[in-house]
Amino acid sequence: MSPDALLSPIRAEQMARSLLHWFGEHKRDMPWRGATPYGVWVSEIMLQQTQVATVIPFYLRFMERFPTVEALASTPIDEVLKYWAGLGYYARARNLHRAAQIVTNEHHGIVPNTPEMIETLPGIGRYTSGAILSIAYGLPRPLVDANVIRVLSRLFGLSGDPKSQANQALLWGLAERMVPQQNPGDFNQSLMELGALVCSPAEPQCARCPLYSECVAGHLPDPTVLPEIPAGRATISLIHSAALIRNFKGEFLLLQRPLEGLWGGLWEFPRVTCTAGESPEEAAKRAGRETVGLPLEVGIRVGKVKHAVTHHKITLYGYLASPVHTQLQLNPVAGRDLAWIPPDAIEQYALSSPPLVSGKSM
Ligand code: SF4
Repeated sequence: MSPDALLSPIRAEQMARSLLHWFGEHKRDMPWRGATPYGVWVSEIMLQQTQVATVIPFYLRFMERFPTVEALASTPIDEVLKYWAGLGYYARARNLHRAAQIVTNEHHGIVPNTPEMIETLPGIGRYTSGAILSIAYGLPRPLVDANVIRVLSRLFGLSGDPKSQANQALLWGLAERMVPQQNPGDFNQSLMELGALVCSPAEPQCARCPLYSECVAGHLPDPTVLPEIPAGRATISLIHSAALIRNFKGEFLLLQRPLEGLWGGLWEFPRVTCTAGESPEEAAKRAGRETVGLPLEVGIRVGKVKHAVTHHKITLYGYLASPVHTQLQLNPVAGRDLAWIPPDAIEQYALSSPPLVSGKSM
């Protein structure tokens, strides 16, 4: 099946007109509507894997602190990560920061306006490029995200795994045929907004959908049979344990994670993953040995938080701990940075998990 066989230019034009009309009446207010190319870029990066309602306060704080690409580029990554802490998927912030430096140094602070140039920037793939070029620069570039996959799969009755190579080619081909020369940014946003507000995963509201008369799935007994998503990976539960090591001044030891990899550049109490049969107390003791080379006495449990990363659900326990020997000789693994922090300053650090203690609790 080809996009041409599924969609004539006239039908594409009619659909675009219906969608744009619907969008004009139903779009939600969002702080990045009408933003600069830099603002659109920041919003699109934040919205990856993250709900609109979660992103809005982070976006507003981030744009207030880093209103221009130059402001972002000239700020150390540690400071940038503080404004990202809580949004998750921190590689996005590191890529955005690196890309802002490239835009500042190599493009005079102007976000590139061609797919060839913009897609060379870290963290900008085909979707983000399509979003920035169409929304910020008014270029008729397509985009396909999870909402668009769902709407187009239902609209055209596409079967099979939407992530398969053949279906991806088909979806991008259809999106390309549909995006109009006039108002391409509004059109792309209307497709995504329709997926978010009307063509939802579990309860599509076909009766109030502007594409109902054209839609294959809308006329099936159950439109949610499309798209055909393969059963996902099972969630894995992990137990982590952290040692809250205090010095004689009452300060806690924090370690910075390596810049590359999971939670790159964030700070944390020395922590490890519990192995099979190992208690969290034993693991907290091991955390001292393995991360900073410090034998520990482990005391009471003072915290338990749950958080998630990709398909892992993590329960993190925190134990007060003190060094066995009075002389503190720390040997952090792989030269990781460390810092002794008073309890009331811990929340100012960009942490890899919700804080286990704070100035109020200690
Ligand atoms: S008619 Fe129903 S299934 Fe089709 S696009 Fe609209 S909401 Fe989705």
